[in-house]
Amino acid sequence: MTFSFLSHLECSRTGERYDAGVLQGTSAAGAPLLARYDLGRVRDAVTPDDIARREPTLWRYHEVLPVRDPERVVSLGEGMTPLLPLPAYARRAGLNRLLMKDEGLIPTGTFKARGAAVGVSRAAELGARGVAMPTNGNAGAAWALYAARAGLGSLIAMPDDAPPITMAECRVAGAELYRVDGLIGDAGRLVGAAVGERDGYQEVSTLKEPYRLEGKKTMGYEIAEQLGWRMPDVILYPTGGGVGIIGIHKALLELKELGWVTGDLPRLVAVQATGCAPIVEAYENGAEESTPFPGARTVAFGITVPKALGDFLVLRAVRETGGTAVAVTDEELLAAQTELAELEGAFICPEGAACFAALGTLRDGGHLDADDEVVVLNTGAGVKYPETVRVDVPLLAKDGRIPARG
Ligand SMILES: *Cc1c(COP(=O)(O)O)cnc(C)c1O
Repeated sequence: MTFSFLSHLECSRTGERYDAGVLQGTSAAGAPLLARYDLGRVRDAVTPDDIARREPTLWRYHEVLPVRDPERVVSLGEGMTPLLPLPAYARRAGLNRLLMKDEGLIPTGTFKARGAAVGVSRAAELGARGVAMPTNGNAGAAWALYAARAGLGSLIAMPDDAPPITMAECRVAGAELYRVDGLIGDAGRLVGAAVGERDGYQEVSTLKEPYRLEGKKTMGYEIAEQLGWRMPDVILYPTGGGVGIIGIHKALLELKELGWVTGDLPRLVAVQATGCAPIVEAYENGAEESTPFPGARTVAFGITVPKALGDFLVLRAVRETGGTAVAVTDEELLAAQTELAELEGAFICPEGAACFAALGTLRDGGHLDADDEVVVLNTGAGVKYPETVRVDVPLLAKDGRIPARG
């Protein structure tokens, strides 16, 4: 039985082919490499019914993932997160069908676990001894923990003000961790310099190796499978480096080629914070690439990426599917975070909350119809961001009497 039908890698700019059998970074053009599979043979080897009988992890799609030897799979049980209906919030947003893919229920508490599971497994299979990366926090935490499980080393650099919990996760996993007085790009330069001095370490920055994307694309496979091998009308995604939205787009194109879904692709919507919205700016200007966003700052840490290597792929995904790109303020996204917890009992991360905050703008702008089936990606658990909620708790009087409510 063939576990993976990976055939080769392809430059996302030129289409040039690269060998998938060795560790690779970006293409000669400096662009991300995309993994390609022999989808015709996948179609003969497996059916959606076969997949339905497999374990509820992302490895159920192993034919379209890059790991060749099942023994090399490094897993903490990631994937098959719930696709939850949100009837109360839908009513508030003027929608009839609103679903949330909740990535808060995944190991490490964010969807970064998907990219780490597949990326680390494949790096180890191809002989890497360690991985090195800059991060805003969540990716570093996930890669450090999966690297530990794989027996690989990890070298991680993150901005000084990254969420402390993500530093703790790296530390507890035994990562070599550095803080940087700057943004993720500054952390990237440090890692680039350090990786040359670590024998056998692979640089695994966002889209600088091909397999993190493969892990993240499984969100697209799961959405289709969980809807009964069907596509929704719209998918909203909080966009930083863009790997998730590029991955979902890739997955849906593969699914169509496999014949497992039919019809139009959902409109893909890239959501950013007004404090860091390079993709939205490029989208509005009709540009094919973004320009570095000055003074980037938002409470939604995971989407503070002033210039993404894969920006042109995000813009392509949005435009090819008839989607759009929108930005919301920190106040709006924090309000949405609270509203979702109050109405639906879901404590989501600020990045996911940005998508909920965007629903109103999209409805008002005519981008969303009341009858559209809308899927929002909540990319992480609110409990990883305790500092986003102001906690102001009254102290009970000694006599134990609760004050009358005003
Ligand atoms: C990294 C991150 C994002 C952005 O992910 P990309 O796929 O790189 O755009 C969104 N939300 C959270 C919680 C993240 O950690």
